Amino acid sequence: MTPAHFPGVAGLIEEELARFRDTHPASAGLHDTAPASLLSGVPMQWMVHWPGSYPIYVQHAAGGHLVDVDGHDYVDFCLGDSGAMAGHSPGEVIAAATARLARGVTFMLPTADAIAAAEHLARRFGLPIWQFTLSATDANRAAIRYARGLTRRPKILIFNHSYHGGVDETFATLDHGSVVSPATSLGPPVDPAVTTNVAEFNDIGAVEGALAAGDIAAVLTEPALTNAGIVLPEPGFHAALRHLTRANGSLLILDETHTLCCGPGGYTREYQLEPDIVVVGKAIAGGLPAGAYGFTAELGAQAAEATPADNSDSPGVGGTLAANALSMAAVRATLETALTDASFARTIPLASRWADGVRRACAAHGIEWHVIQLGCRAEFQFSPAAFATGADAIAAKEPALERFLHLFALNRGVLLTPFHNMALMCPEHSEADVDRHSAVFDAALTRLSETNIG
Ligand code: PMP
Repeated sequence: MTPAHFPGVAGLIEEELARFRDTHPASAGLHDTAPASLLSGVPMQWMVHWPGSYPIYVQHAAGGHLVDVDGHDYVDFCLGDSGAMAGHSPGEVIAAATARLARGVTFMLPTADAIAAAEHLARRFGLPIWQFTLSATDANRAAIRYARGLTRRPKILIFNHSYHGGVDETFATLDHGSVVSPATSLGPPVDPAVTTNVAEFNDIGAVEGALAAGDIAAVLTEPALTNAGIVLPEPGFHAALRHLTRANGSLLILDETHTLCCGPGGYTREYQLEPDIVVVGKAIAGGLPAGAYGFTAELGAQAAEATPADNSDSPGVGGTLAANALSMAAVRATLETALTDASFARTIPLASRWADGVRRACAAHGIEWHVIQLGCRAEFQFSPAAFATGADAIAAKEPALERFLHLFALNRGVLLTPFHNMALMCPEHSEADVDRHSAVFDAALTRLSETNIG
């Protein structure tokens, strides 16, 4: 069955919204007062995009669970959309960060933790030279600046419907072959066609055409797209991308912010890719703010030359709070103790169990949705087959159906990542947590089937 078989979903959403309002009075009370001081009643725009009538307000969280101000306990498969991939407040990270808090947080001077963290990232990703930022967004911005500065080329190439944070050059999409601002983009500084070229993911012919112009400083991509829906690279895509970027003098920047879910060295190590620059963020500091980007030895030497000591005042990268001692302590502790081989050995099978639970429920209800796994992340897609491009993923979106499934789960103690039908596993999730999702998902499909079929 396709989503067209569920025309009654609007009624089901109303039913679930009523249940949500009945059971979340404390969140409602806070939300009523918020618009007087917060834009749209939230401290950051995305927080309105949850499926209830208003966001749930958090009381506390630990490991893979979160408790809201109404006292409801949730299995949290959102995990801050990856920032808490190591689980909420992992013990040794909290211990390291707490110790650092009492001994000074920010100096615009390095601590020994920064060297340990960089050495650790170097071992994981095979790139020796690192810089730190406060977020993956900042790391992508800096990586693009270095790429332009070192190649002396003006543009980057990204893939359609990719996402790399709030980076101006990456807010570009294809419209009948032209590069334009996405309809949702707010206040673009210039026409994105000036800074950016866009190809469809997996379309190596389009990449070849774009690189041939000789004006592309770097291709910036996730190794597998995760933000429009998971889109895996087709066999040979990465080899061809690496070959073409080298042949055309463009750099290859791999954004591993989400694909770190594939293992300790992300997709890069898992599939032995050879990027010039790797970007990471979100999860690397156990939830504290930190991002990082790493260079090959050759590029690191060129970058050092481009920002010599007497001219490193304001090259357009960096910031006073970047690489602060608290972030560095948290990155070191997260890499050494929380996002380890052992944690992925636990979380990847949990994601397989989650995916199996969804597949079983779909089969039982005769629903042909695709279920895809990427390391410790898994997702269902309203399509019988995997997507080849970001455009395919966007075309398959079913906002009403998605809202119902997310709200039905939230009302029964399971949080999924908003904007995606996606679940991320942390080491503290249990098999029982995953089975709770399988049961709730099956119940949601039962409800859909009863209401809509016939
Ligand atoms: N890169 C990717 C692939 C992302 O998915 C995101 C955020 N979802 C970012 C970068 C930006 O991360 P942040 O918002 O933490 O800066």
